[in-house]
Amino acid sequence: MSMLYEIEHLHQPNGWLSPGYLEIGKDGRILSVSGVKPEGGTATRLNGFGVPGLSNLHSHAFQRALAGRTEFVTGEMAEDNLWTWRRAMYQMVDRLTPETYQAIAALVYLEMLQFGMTAVCEFHYVHHQAGGKPHSNRAEMSDRLIAAAAKTGLGMTMLPVFYAHGGIGKPVEPTQQRFVHSVDDYLGLIDTLRGRKKDHANLDVGLALHSLRAVTPDEAKAVLAGMQAMDAKARLHIHVSETTHEVAEVKAGLGARPVQWLLDNVDLNSQWCLVHATHLDASEIAGAAASGAVAGICPLTEATMGDGFFPLVEYHGANGAWGIGTDSHYSTSTAEELRMLECGKRLELRRRNVIARPDQGQPVHSGRVLFDTALAGGEQASGQGGGALVAGRRADLVMLDADSNPLLGHGPETVLDGWLLGGTQNPVRDVMVAGKWVIRDRHHPEEAAIKTNYRKAMAELTA
Ligand SMILES: [Zn+2]
Repeated sequence: MSMLYEIEHLHQPNGWLSPGYLEIGKDGRILSVSGVKPEGGTATRLNGFGVPGLSNLHSHAFQRALAGRTEFVTGEMAEDNLWTWRRAMYQMVDRLTPETYQAIAALVYLEMLQFGMTAVCEFHYVHHQAGGKPHSNRAEMSDRLIAAAAKTGLGMTMLPVFYAHGGIGKPVEPTQQRFVHSVDDYLGLIDTLRGRKKDHANLDVGLALHSLRAVTPDEAKAVLAGMQAMDAKARLHIHVSETTHEVAEVKAGLGARPVQWLLDNVDLNSQWCLVHATHLDASEIAGAAASGAVAGICPLTEATMGDGFFPLVEYHGANGAWGIGTDSHYSTSTAEELRMLECGKRLELRRRNVIARPDQGQPVHSGRVLFDTALAGGEQASGQGGGALVAGRRADLVMLDADSNPLLGHGPETVLDGWLLGGTQNPVRDVMVAGKWVIRDRHHPEEAAIKTNYRKAMAELTA
């Protein structure tokens, strides 16, 4: 049986329907959208603003457990940066078990849903036991993440990470043994995970190269060819140009800046997500934007790491696709991430409304531009089939509460400005993934159990 909803204000690619009628088939896809009630149907009324669910394009779920736990300096550190943070992250990696991995992921996935995200691209690299011995089920750790996503109802594009070196020409460190595969074992893992799709409707599987530091050109070529043979349309993700240190290392080792190297050596196209892409020169901006790849910006993680700032205005001005990820999960809030991006640039450039440009004299709202661009970029990076409330797409619907403080008195024209740039309370009230409600009235049925398990995992990891 299909379901029909009458939504007070319904987000559309080119505006709003007030009200909008959304008909959802039992396969979880949108059958029709209309401003007029379809004949003979009984509609369930939903008050507030209905917007599409966002795909979070970059996550390392377990790093949620480090948020708020590395915000201090000690006498022995000359400088605190991504690389010193990484030492703390590796200490946690050494202690992670399948159970704690799953418990942390369940909490972070629940948080994503509560902030209006309906899918995640999980860049998963802790594959083996501490010391590097594979689990008897080689997909054990991936399966734990898939189970956490299934428990919460979040869609997932699983990106098992290929990782083979501790830097260009460097062997892996002991902790990194948990991340390492041979090319054949890695492709075997992807094949196994692709088999999980029959049991999980909202699961997809893509490929991730950790970085040009951790993968040689020959290895990259081999795993990309193997993936191509299994799924020619698979999503392809890579960490790139996060820090100036990485840019220098790749330039010295491979003879070009990282994004330039990819432009010269890999067929960059719309299947690719360039995670971070923070340090780009003018020709890399033009090349990456024209390639159709999506830049995966993780604003609060990059800020907390002190990485640098994505060239948003230039990239957006070159019509480059971009989206947002919450990466280390210092925040899982859509509004905080997009506000960091827009307002950080305002501080840097000393002007307002940095990416919105008036259209033939008509006002263009920053909240709308930020949301719609991140929505399209997230869908492109995840390939989940949502990203718009139009016929044929997956029914991922987020209802914003018009009675929440940031939205009080707003209408469709300014509601996204109110949510993303105008207040701090989270207005997300109800969340549907593929036609099924997973958050109702801000709560998830498994919430209490998920929190209990997380607390237990943290006690174990910090004991
Ligand atoms: Zn990352």
